[in-house]
Amino acid sequence: SGSLTVGELAEKLNKDSSELIKKLMFLGVMATKNEDLEKETIELIAEDYGVEVEEEIEIDELGIETQVEEDDPAKLEERPPVVTIMGHVDHGKTTLLDSIRHTKVTAGEAGGITQHIGAYQVREDGKKITFLDTPGHAAFTTMRARGAQVTDITILVVAADDGVMPQTKEAINHAKAAEVPIIVAVNKMDKEGANPDRVMQELTEFELVPEAWGGDTIYVNVSALKGDGIDELLEMILLVAEVEELKANPDKRARGTVVEAELDKGRGPVATLLVQEGTMKVGDPIVVGNTYGKIRAMVNDLGKREKSAGPSTPVEITGLNGVPNAGDQFVIFGDEKKARQFGEARANRAREQERSQTSKVSIDDLFDQI
Ligand code: GDP
Ligand code: MG
Repeated sequence: SGSLTVGELAEKLNKDSSELIKKLMFLGVMATKNEDLEKETIELIAEDYGVEVEEEIEIDELGIETQVEEDDPAKLEERPPVVTIMGHVDHGKTTLLDSIRHTKVTAGEAGGITQHIGAYQVREDGKKITFLDTPGHAAFTTMRARGAQVTDITILVVAADDGVMPQTKEAINHAKAAEVPIIVAVNKMDKEGANPDRVMQELTEFELVPEAWGGDTIYVNVSALKGDGIDELLEMILLVAEVEELKANPDKRARGTVVEAELDKGRGPVATLLVQEGTMKVGDPIVVGNTYGKIRAMVNDLGKREKSAGPSTPVEITGLNGVPNAGDQFVIFGDEKKARQFGEARANRAREQERSQTSKVSIDDLFDQI
């Protein structure tokens, strides 16, 4: 990597090879058209033509690791748990998410017009809980498929009148594979045929043995529709969070994961980001998946403008040059130019990977910018 022939460089600079060969001679370098040039020589030539050669960038697997700051254990602080709700279709996931949000958010916040940004936060006993509310299992599965682990706790919703169904099992498998603790919410307790004992019995086969039966799985009976049991459910989430000792360092440049993203007609690319560590601020240079930019504005789940966001906080941002994918990672850079270099290099690499694996020379990312 990093090599370029006289002919290739001439092409990049839009000059004749012969002109370059003459210039090289003048610099004391005897070279033919097909000769590989050293990096220093390329820079010298480029400089002579008034072209800036950007520095080569190390791109590791994620392309962002080199930007991540070391963690100081002394700076780790408690952070809110990030919770995902899973369960069989029609067992009440959406109703439960709405119920939690309405009883907790709208009541507490003046005027509280909630904004759908794919995640929201509530308070219980003075502590925050973050819920991902992207539809169905998507939040969990697509993110996991992209290697992102954002969920700390899963709420498994099982309708008390229906019991364990295929997607209930799927959800259990996902949570177990990710080693995420499960809290069971036995829903629709208001219904005539509600049978929570049967749910516990069925789930015991999946090693979700209730505490009452000597196991260690927490079960909470709820009615998402009526709002019953919501407080207890939230208290149990905080209990599990405490056991898990969830911590992050807020005092560093932020990194985290894309919850969802789209192209907005007026605002351009809009992405909901979940900060997983550090603190993100308006104006920060950022690389997100294969996109980059500078955070122009930040809006929370109540539609309120924010200037910064710490660990476990979901915010919607604008200012990216493209639309990233759910599950992509983001990282804040200390330097705007570097963020752009990284972002462009990553986009180029993605394009190249798409084009073909057989294209024989990949003239380096850095030369694409000449
Ligand atoms: P999802 O597919 O898991 O998101 O399920 P929904 O939240 O869309 O709920 C499916 C249906 O069950 C809707 O008609 C809800 O009104 C109803 N439902 C959800 N929770 C309850 C509950 O606690 N009690 C009763 N009676 N109905 C419920
Ligand atoms: Mg739903």
